[in-house]
Amino acid sequence: MRPFAYERAADARSAVAARAAGAADGAGAVYLGGGTNLVDLMRLGVVSPGVLVDVTRLPSDGVEETAGGGLLIGAAMRNSDLAAHPLVRRRYPMLTQAVVAGASGQIRNMATVGGNLLQRTRCSYFQDVTKPCNKRAPGSGCPARNGDHRNLAVIGQSEACVATHPSDMAVPLAALGAVVHIEGPGGARQVPMPGLHRLPGDTPERDTVLEPGDLITAVELPPLPFAARSRYRKVRDRASFAFAVVSVAAALDVEDGMVKDCRIALGGVAHIPWRAERAESALRGSPATEAAFAQAAAEELAQATPLPHNAFKVPLARNVVVRTLLDLVEAS
Ligand SMILES: Cc1cc2nc3c(=O)[nH]c(=O)nc-3n(C[C@H](O)[C@H](O)[C@H](O)COP(=O)(O)OP(=O)(O)OC[C@H]3O[C@@H](n4cnc5c(N)ncnc54)[C@H](O)[C@@H]3O)c2cc1C
Ligand code: SF4
Repeated sequence: MRPFAYERAADARSAVAARAAGAADGAGAVYLGGGTNLVDLMRLGVVSPGVLVDVTRLPSDGVEETAGGGLLIGAAMRNSDLAAHPLVRRRYPMLTQAVVAGASGQIRNMATVGGNLLQRTRCSYFQDVTKPCNKRAPGSGCPARNGDHRNLAVIGQSEACVATHPSDMAVPLAALGAVVHIEGPGGARQVPMPGLHRLPGDTPERDTVLEPGDLITAVELPPLPFAARSRYRKVRDRASFAFAVVSVAAALDVEDGMVKDCRIALGGVAHIPWRAERAESALRGSPATEAAFAQAAAEELAQATPLPHNAFKVPLARNVVVRTLLDLVEAS
């Protein structure tokens, strides 16, 4: 591993300044959260920054109630603390369930909210520096298309890249329309989810809309009373310590047997946490029945363009959407 310098930032502005100073030196500076993804990628030689700016000691490491009735989650908050927070568990159970479904207890104790959102794809070619990969080495090719793509994308992929975004946490955040707070060299701004992550197109090396030096400082959950009845369901190859093959975050507001409102997002199917807007539109005003759920899921997945070895994900995603929505109806 290339030698690197380590700096610990005390607040957001000094983190942004330290990262800019490292970049100006030509060293290549990056933010360090819990390091559970970044340090692995450094060991593999996928990335080799010259300066790590530790942002785990920033003051933004807890949950605050917002004036509008939502929650503001600090980017430095550890995943375990987020999942266990009583307000998160009560108001947004799908978020707690998604975080707990990810990684292991030890990793969740280290991993931060900001780092979780920005973890890189688990595509095996991306992690293997002896192989071409357009995301790691732009223009080198995408061996996954004709190779191992069983767990890669079925929606929104491009000729250049068929990777999936790996975060479980990001899926309920996309369903909720959470707002990501950013401090950058040009000042502060906010990006609503799912707009943080981007489809690969011709530039798969860019996972997100963030600019160099942008620091995630917080994630704001909007008030959504019916999210108190929400659920995250994850299908994976083994019961723990495995990334999603397909996952669904859903919240459902049902009155007199009819769907008043709903939120649905899919994980494991795209380069971004996929907000199922077509399914949501189809469901609003429909009866809360298995037939309506199946129709809505089918409308969403009609846009899927799977590869030969991951076509199974399309019916799997449809079934997981239906089962999750039925669970919510049965629990209400
Ligand atoms: C064995 C294993 C199994 C796993 N299983 C799952 C799983 O099932 N589901 C799942 O969702 N995840 C899983 N993970 C991934 C894990 O959740 C991530 O590694 C973790 O969330 C990353 O958080 P971190 O704070 O350690 O980020 P880091 O590794 O420190 O950083 C990740 C990236 O984010 C950047 N960064 C960090 N903080 C900020 C910030 N505030 N602003 C801007 N940039 C920032 C870093 O520069 C880096 O590019 C697994 C990991 C391992 C090792
Ligand atoms: S799918 Fe994306 S990450 Fe995987 S090899 Fe192709 S370009 Fe690289």
